[in-house]
Amino acid sequence: MALKTDVLIVGGGLAGLSTAYHLGSRLEALVVEKGTRVGGTAGSVAQDGFTFDQTGHLLHLHDDYGRRLILGLLRGNAARHERSAWIHSRGVDTRYPFQANTFGLPPRVVDDCLLGFLKTVHRPGRPLGSRPSFRDWCLRQFGEGISRHFMFPYNEKLWKTPLEELTTEWQGRFVPKPKPGEVLRGALMDQRKAFGYNASFYYPRRGGCQALPDALAARLRSGQVRLRCALKSVDLRERIAVVEGLGEVAYGRLVNTMPLYDFLGLVGPLPARADEARRRLRFNTVWNLNLGVARAGVCDKHWIYFPEKSFPFYRVGFASNFARSNHPRGTSSLYIEVSRKPQERVDKRRLETSILDGLRRCGLLKASDRLVTRQWNQIRCGYVVYDFERTPAVAALTAFLNRRGVDSIGRYGGWKYSFMEETILDGKACAERLCASLV
Ligand SMILES: Cc1cc2nc3c(=O)[nH]c(=O)nc-3n(C[C@H](O)[C@H](O)[C@H](O)COP(=O)(O)OP(=O)(O)OC[C@H]3O[C@@H](n4cnc5c(N)ncnc54)[C@H](O)[C@@H]3O)c2cc1C
Repeated sequence: MALKTDVLIVGGGLAGLSTAYHLGSRLEALVVEKGTRVGGTAGSVAQDGFTFDQTGHLLHLHDDYGRRLILGLLRGNAARHERSAWIHSRGVDTRYPFQANTFGLPPRVVDDCLLGFLKTVHRPGRPLGSRPSFRDWCLRQFGEGISRHFMFPYNEKLWKTPLEELTTEWQGRFVPKPKPGEVLRGALMDQRKAFGYNASFYYPRRGGCQALPDALAARLRSGQVRLRCALKSVDLRERIAVVEGLGEVAYGRLVNTMPLYDFLGLVGPLPARADEARRRLRFNTVWNLNLGVARAGVCDKHWIYFPEKSFPFYRVGFASNFARSNHPRGTSSLYIEVSRKPQERVDKRRLETSILDGLRRCGLLKASDRLVTRQWNQIRCGYVVYDFERTPAVAALTAFLNRRGVDSIGRYGGWKYSFMEETILDGKACAERLCASLV
């Protein structure tokens, strides 16, 4: 006989765990997770005395409830840090964000950036249309120099998509927009003002980012989360799912948090319009190499962006600067992030060689440095691509799924660019919707 549950939650990452936590005992919920631990993208791996996250996973807390919940769950196991983020280009490190901190770059580059920016202020030209491309928006917002020296190369490297195909829908919080006086000041002197949504962050003192999903899972009923239980297929009309290890599960509502694109692939034959919308979803894949290095204090920063093509990575961070427990004494821990198209074949050995070469060229590693350990993560669906097809496709798919009793939420279920606190709040909102629908 099939298992039965009021709510079947697919995925034991933060979105799925948060939904179950916020449902409490109001509805019976079962979380099925294909992996061997909870946390999904926010999980960590312990290896050779190091704790590695899947790249940097820092807690940006902006919502009162989110802050109380997350810090409450961590019960003192969280330290606050003032961000130290930089950009490496033209052989020098300048402060993040690039557009407000060109001081220190070669004078010709500073001139380009400043003159281009001033032109946008004093001779802005025709207004942009209602849905400009990210490329046009950069030129209008920052001018030719800042676009050419940072915005274009960095974003092309990250998104793996021509910038004229990207919208500006995602950039609101993620791209700081300094005032003209700040751009000017930052070209003339080392400006220490903190810009942007992540100027400070919290990070667990012990256990890496995994401490958060673990704390959330510990609040759920025993047996409520079933690991190694991948969703295999769903019959949306009959409301029956087939789950590895559990067989058929009959449900009242389904909450999906696995990548929307993959979930739709498990949903029988899709109606033509939904299938067509699914084909329009695009994403990149993040390849993350974590390194343990036998030298303390490799770098005193939190992370550095690398816009230039000559470096294979777009960002390098230093997990040993987030928590002492992340690494053994006398060592440093680095995370390196590389973006690729999902279909691109990646030879990890070759990529690792070029990463190590890049780290030496920019001076982060010395020729004499010994690697204590290395660990690879492939985040197949890393960043959802905000091209002009995304928003209408997601709207059509959300409406289709809602009609069939499915809420698709979280960073990947909701097919968006969001961070952990928002993901947890997505789970709360979903639980509230489900409970309200019962009244
Ligand atoms: C490179 C990178 C850096 C990031 N840095 C930060 C940061 O510094 N700060 C921050 O706040 N956020 C950061 N984020 C975002 C953060 O990771 C997400 O917001 C959050 O972890 C998403 O949680 P989720 O539950 O929506 O998805 P996920 O964590 O992906 O959870 C989905 C779960 O579904 C499971 N699953 C998949 N298929 C199946 C199946 N068939 N059956 C059952 N289960 C399945 C997966 O194993 C996974 O556990 C970053 C993300 C990336 C990619």
